[in-house]
Amino acid sequence: MPTNIHDEFDRLHLWHPYTSTIDPLPCYEVAHASGATITLADGRELIDGMSSWWCVIHGYSHPVLVEAAKKQIESMSHVMFGGLTHRPAIELGKLLLSILPDNMEHIFYADSGSVATEVAMKMAVQAQNDPRRTNFATIRCGYHGDTWNAMSVCDPVTGMHGAFGPALPVRFFADSPRSRFDGEWDPADILPMKKIIEENATTLAAVILEPIVQGAGGMRFYHPQYLRELRRLCDEHGVFLIFDEIATGFGRTGHLFAWEHSGVKPDIMLIGKAITGGFMTFAAVATSAEIARRISESDAGCMMHGPTFMGNPLACAVALASTRLLLASPWQKRIAEIEAIMRRRLSPARSRGNVADVRVLGGIGVIELKNPVNLGEFQKKCVEAGVWIRPFGKNAYIMPPYLAVSDAQVERLCDALLDLTDDC
Ligand SMILES: *Cc1c(COP(=O)(O)O)cnc(C)c1O
Repeated sequence: MPTNIHDEFDRLHLWHPYTSTIDPLPCYEVAHASGATITLADGRELIDGMSSWWCVIHGYSHPVLVEAAKKQIESMSHVMFGGLTHRPAIELGKLLLSILPDNMEHIFYADSGSVATEVAMKMAVQAQNDPRRTNFATIRCGYHGDTWNAMSVCDPVTGMHGAFGPALPVRFFADSPRSRFDGEWDPADILPMKKIIEENATTLAAVILEPIVQGAGGMRFYHPQYLRELRRLCDEHGVFLIFDEIATGFGRTGHLFAWEHSGVKPDIMLIGKAITGGFMTFAAVATSAEIARRISESDAGCMMHGPTFMGNPLACAVALASTRLLLASPWQKRIAEIEAIMRRRLSPARSRGNVADVRVLGGIGVIELKNPVNLGEFQKKCVEAGVWIRPFGKNAYIMPPYLAVSDAQVERLCDALLDLTDDC
């Protein structure tokens, strides 16, 4: 059994997300993963608390997804989408439209979440078809991906892209709502966005934000009333509303999609991450009939985007199998059970001096600390404790693969999170 789980070549030559090449934190080599268990090269087993960044909802190596991928590879892994189409894209599109808001009628398949953000922003500009209406507004603490335009609407401080400051297009940032998801609605919350929209209506193409749960920009859960007020303002001023559900989709917040907490339907909606059950990169942008019609009637006459791997059959086939598997499972009941365990198990952290907040929604449990976590030390202790949890900034959180974890595994994740944040 190999004992060196920190590979020298990897350390010297491979980039990892948000990691220095000069002074990298150790990366643990994984041999294989199945269900909710990640097995390291030295044989140690970790309970997965991250779903590999929101996406592995069925657990790793799920046999139904493995089978779907194999079957598709044997018939065709890829074929261009320009002028050609295929069953996996068609069946997936039908299934997605049946579970997305009922005003969604058109689907654009994209390669990743960040690309979906780019596509959605381009769509909004093209649908406006007005050279003055090309800018965007959003709320602080958001995260929409790592490509150029996506970066421009990420929180300028917590959104990880501060380094690019002056290189990015300048967007409008409203303070994010303070009213908690489960608290009282404070009507003052909408005022900063109201001011931005009223003062800049003639230059705004769209407002883009993550509905209800802000993920990588702060792990915040906000009040559904915000979205209702925002929808009204957008309609009043001819500004489109884009919901980024890349992190929240496919059950994570307890509803299939987070917009359902509010009843507010967007004009454009992004889904990704869990769409393939964490098998491979893939995303989709859904739009209303009006957006599609306006783009097609615009000067360009069509949506000006068409990546090489658009509608990749392999990704479509796995996404179809994953979504069917999810819908056939008791996902809502299971996520509610996991939510209840996390609420009970994490609440003792509330009374600790180093803890700013504890919050749980659906399959997401967060302990927000007063100080940033020392990631290197934290990860080392995680691995020693037999769990996989990766905090960012002040947020230590778990979001286990809800259709794979047992109650006992969720309890162990909660206990480890409590233990490991005790001296942070
Ligand atoms: C992860 C994420 C993205 C970017 O998706 P990638 O697949 O990493 O490019 C965009 N928006 C939200 C809300 C995300 O969580």
